[in-house]
Amino acid sequence: MAARKKTTPKEWNKGKVGASRPAAGAPVVERCTVDGCGRLAEGAALAEGWHRTDVPASSEPPRDWCSAWCAAVGRALADLRPARR
Ligand SMILES: [Zn+2]
Repeated sequence: MAARKKTTPKEWNKGKVGASRPAAGAPVVERCTVDGCGRLAEGAALAEGWHRTDVPASSEPPRDWCSAWCAAVGRALADLRPARR
């Protein structure tokens, strides 16, 4: 059995430097800072560029979002929170 070759951390890491990736428990998405994003849906008309999510089978109520990205995240959360029966 050959002796195990000792390596420095840099050799093991193939020379990569810089910040490591976030810890596993870190939030997957940053919280949106736009005022009113994620608020409960009110009224029939949405402002330009805003999106509404409404998942009937979810415990999440209809909400308004500032962008398609935020709406996608909101829709995913609503999908993960089924309505209690
Ligand atoms: Zn947003």
